[in-house]
Amino acid sequence: MADYVISPPAITSVPVKGGGNFPIRRVFCVGRNYAEHAREMGSDPDREPPFFFMKPADALLLNDGDMPYPPQSTQLHHEMELVVALGEGGSNIAEADALAHVWGYAAGLDMTRRDLQNAAKKEGKPWDMGKGFDWSAPIGLMVPASKIGHPSTGLIELKVNGKVRQTSDLSKMIWNVSETIAYLSGLVKLAPGDLIYTGTPENVAAVQRGDLLEGVVEGVGSVRTRIT
Ligand code: MN
Repeated sequence: MADYVISPPAITSVPVKGGGNFPIRRVFCVGRNYAEHAREMGSDPDREPPFFFMKPADALLLNDGDMPYPPQSTQLHHEMELVVALGEGGSNIAEADALAHVWGYAAGLDMTRRDLQNAAKKEGKPWDMGKGFDWSAPIGLMVPASKIGHPSTGLIELKVNGKVRQTSDLSKMIWNVSETIAYLSGLVKLAPGDLIYTGTPENVAAVQRGDLLEGVVEGVGSVRTRIT
């Protein structure tokens, strides 16, 4: 037993469809990875290099749990995303080898305090408090790549209270999963347990208390949360 002076934090883990739990190390997120979303955020999507931000692992919201409306914001936005889970890590991973590092996938939401993010952007400050707040990362069941393969096309869709809000196709990602892993592994040494939220398609918008969010990624699964 290590000589910890306080209780060590619990390991966050995401339940796997069919049994077991996937332990989480870090949560990386890709910014502006669908052209129409980049445009709606006022950027030029012409393959600027991918960029990344992070959420703490304990921002994950599991098991279709309720999401408390976060403090200090009046503009909580949904971003529906495909989540990649790494089973192997490494530095400078080649694109051709990248998918061999993927353990599985899940459907997830990158919930965003857009007002805080926009204020930070304007002042050249970090996005952390717009992105990495408590319960900001709802995630559905993990599914192993050994069962579903590596989806590169397929519907990605979010409904709010039963009405479609976001709909697109995984093939519209600017940087695909292999390219994203290769690029990110050139910036940091990736590790087993790391997640990558791969960016949202267009039509991000605000949610209110009481709203029910239901997202699907075709061939992967679903994610569901109610804002309380
Ligand atoms: Mn996002």
